[in-house]
Amino acid sequence: MKMRDQSSKSWPCRISVLNVGGASAPRPKATSLITTVGTLMPLAHSVATYLTGSWPRRLFLKQLVVAFLAALPWLQVTGAEPTIPPAPEGSFSIVVIPDSQKYLGRGTKSQAKSTNEVTNAALLQHTRWILDNLDKQRIVFVSHVGDIVDRNVPEQWAVARRCMDQLHGRVPYGIAPGNHDHGRATQTTLFQQSFGTVRFAGMPWYGGAFAEPRDPAASGNNANSFQLFSAGGMEFVILHLQCNAPDDVLQWADGVLRQHAGRRAIVTTHMGLGPLEQPKQKDEFTTGPKGLMKWKKCHGERGNTPEQMWQKCFRKHANLRLIFCGDQSRTQAMRLTLQNDHGKPVHWLLSDYMQDVGWWLRAYRFLPGKNLIEVRTVDSHEGRLCEGTKFLPKPDEHQFQLDYEMTKPKP
Ligand SMILES: [Zn+2]
Repeated sequence: MKMRDQSSKSWPCRISVLNVGGASAPRPKATSLITTVGTLMPLAHSVATYLTGSWPRRLFLKQLVVAFLAALPWLQVTGAEPTIPPAPEGSFSIVVIPDSQKYLGRGTKSQAKSTNEVTNAALLQHTRWILDNLDKQRIVFVSHVGDIVDRNVPEQWAVARRCMDQLHGRVPYGIAPGNHDHGRATQTTLFQQSFGTVRFAGMPWYGGAFAEPRDPAASGNNANSFQLFSAGGMEFVILHLQCNAPDDVLQWADGVLRQHAGRRAIVTTHMGLGPLEQPKQKDEFTTGPKGLMKWKKCHGERGNTPEQMWQKCFRKHANLRLIFCGDQSRTQAMRLTLQNDHGKPVHWLLSDYMQDVGWWLRAYRFLPGKNLIEVRTVDSHEGRLCEGTKFLPKPDEHQFQLDYEMTKPKP
């Protein structure tokens, strides 16, 4: 069976406006060798019988149609790219870990009465997949969009840290604390204990953190950080900003972006795209109008909504062209391209697959020669690509391309 040619036009078309899914649909099932053989056998049998001359032509054609219909589901699944192909030379990948709150065991929401130790198989598998694919996918950076824990308790932070330990020293990474990573009064004390500046101080790619916030318990000690890396002949700065970052954090971010104006900038921050206004009823999370959110969850009066973060900070910086976010599991995946003050497109990209059964990771493959980013959503456990989910049944919500200028325009 012919696999899809990566260079062909069969990829979902380039889309640079917001995409919001709607109706539910069954998830396509992964195929196995057994089902493949099972569905193709009648087809082979029909052909063989006809060739031996034991069937009249009309009966043969009838059997052929029946066999073809039986094989159709298999053809549909394998007609798409089934798994992530290796990254070609000259390309590189940034992997984004979406919200990773799938904890099980003692004191977790899903197993409140359990006495088992706390585990997070999905996050553990995400980090294993990343390690296994460092070379194959040419991974240069890993960004976590936040909600690394579900409940802000030491047991879950210990598990999160053990998972991320697998990446430590192997690949540069950063974490943007989400609303679940903030405690009461929106402090990030437990995050700071697990992922504070001391953990990263010796890393050559570590840029630094906001050192003098108005409220250190909320915004200090790596709750807002930046990292530096180079790939494809380009230099990058990536900022990880806490959920609903207050003004002092945004002023610090302004300074970092100005200081590194010669680098391509990326921001990861937890809230970004989702329901425009705070839903008052459950169904509004899926049915209400969506876009750059105008509501917030952290820091009380001091907190900035995603829309305020864009207006106060992000849109001013010519070098900032990509913003990763999470938080909205019922919006799940969405992208929105806005123009900044310099007339350049800025892609906002949401991924939060918490409500799906798949263990989805996002791989952003940069193709410098084509000025393109290929975006793939891959299950870190099964290795297959996402062809649709209950919330977003269309494949191009999960596998798509983005325009991203990389080569200098010719004079
Ligand atoms: Zn969240």
